[in-house]
Amino acid sequence: MSAVRALVTGATGQDGGYLVEQLVGQGVEVHALVRGAGGASSALRSTELPAGVHVHRGDLTDGLSMDRLVQELEPTEVYNLGGLSSVALSWEQPALTAQVSGVAVGHLLKASYDLQERTGVPVRFVQASSAEIFGRSERVPQDETTPVRPLSPYGAAKAYAHHLVGVYRARGLHASSCILYNHESPRRPQTFVTRKITVGAARIARGLQDQLAMGNLDARRDWGWAPDYVAAMTAAARDEAGRDYVVATGVSHSVRDFVAAAFAAAGITEWERHVTLDPRFARPSDAPELVGDSSRARQLLGWSPTTTFPEVVTRMVEHDLALLDAQGD
Ligand code: NAP
Repeated sequence: MSAVRALVTGATGQDGGYLVEQLVGQGVEVHALVRGAGGASSALRSTELPAGVHVHRGDLTDGLSMDRLVQELEPTEVYNLGGLSSVALSWEQPALTAQVSGVAVGHLLKASYDLQERTGVPVRFVQASSAEIFGRSERVPQDETTPVRPLSPYGAAKAYAHHLVGVYRARGLHASSCILYNHESPRRPQTFVTRKITVGAARIARGLQDQLAMGNLDARRDWGWAPDYVAAMTAAARDEAGRDYVVATGVSHSVRDFVAAAFAAAGITEWERHVTLDPRFARPSDAPELVGDSSRARQLLGWSPTTTFPEVVTRMVEHDLALLDAQGD
């Protein structure tokens, strides 16, 4: 595997950290693009990346620097996981979201294509796309042929990047767009509803708070385990052709189900007593149900999720309980 040289953007994010760890475990030479040192809103600090990873500081929106980095490093695999990943925050910052999660993907695709043209060595590009490109889909479950019809600035930025991957694939780049459904882990920031729920359930279980304020409990999502989803991305890079892949469990649950599972994992059965509905946390035009049909990834990549919904929720709650208990020691 040492012939593989990977560039990973978003390496201090939830997925970037898991991807870097998996690649290092495979013996790949890993170069990580990080925006800053990593901090409060990052899943990891850059110093927490595994030993041997080459860290490069830079901003995805700086096209010249991204091109220079790609031409200097000459990666054989480029994984673009960097971006503004919150649907909720994209309503606050639609233009920045478009720049970072949409337009900037063009810089990396062009740099990868130019590198391949210059050296004659194939470059394999993987984009972390999102189920949010489908928005209010009439089709349930969605697959790679489902019309792209986003409902949020985040979904629109991701849709642009998704189309651009197809454009460069048609031009001759081995480019794949992994259409990722929600995937969670203890590294999810608390700005995301899932981690907010698991932290809230843990704090209520330990008597540190009594109520958890929630927006819409009815939205349904297809939640998986983050390390599984980055494994799909490396499999996509190594398949014979670049393609679009839906990466999903195929099972949807409501936010209410997530809350009930999290409180149960924290040892609380009557969760309704602790949850208040607050319209301030409801999102405008939230997609009502996103659930993916990952048959293509299963058949062509041999991929399948390893972790069930209750296991994902339980691992997150156990992590948050352990964090609280460690703080109390
Ligand atoms: P995340 O934890 O928010 O990580 C995003 C990463 O992007 C962070 O490392 C962040 O750096 C970096 N970043 C943000 N702006 C940047 C910029 N201008 N230049 C360079 N780096 C920048 O997201 P994630 O959950 O790991 O998701 C990874 C990717 O998958 C994202 O593109 C996301 O949209 C996509 N996705 C995720 C999910 C999911 O359920 N997690 C579902 C569908 C798609 P800092 O650490 O400095 O902030």
